[in-house]
Amino acid sequence: MESFCAQNCQALVKCQCGEFLCSHTMGHHMILGHSALSMTETGLMSSFPSIFGLISEYKEKIVQRGTYLTQQVGKLVSSQIVRLEQFER
Ligand SMILES: [Zn+2]
Ligand SMILES: [Zn+2]
Repeated sequence: MESFCAQNCQALVKCQCGEFLCSHTMGHHMILGHSALSMTETGLMSSFPSIFGLISEYKEKIVQRGTYLTQQVGKLVSSQIVRLEQFER
C-alpha cells in the first residue's frame, strides 16, 4: 500500500503526523495507527490561501474566457457593420 496518492487528489483530512490525506492515503495512515484530524479543525486556516488562490485562478479563467468571447463577438459585429456599410454604398 502506498503512503502517498498518485492521483493528486484533494486532501480531505490532515493526519496527526502532519500529512494531508485523501481517501486513498487515509487507510494507510489508519493502519499505522494515526488518527486523522478534520480539515475544519486543523488545516482549514492554513489551507485558506490555497483555496483562495484556486478561486481567484478560476475567476481569472472565466474573466479571460469572457474577454475572449467579447473580443470575438466584437470582431464579428464590426465585420458585419463593415459589410453593411459596404452594402449600403
Ligand atoms: Zn499519518
Ligand atoms: Zn487519492
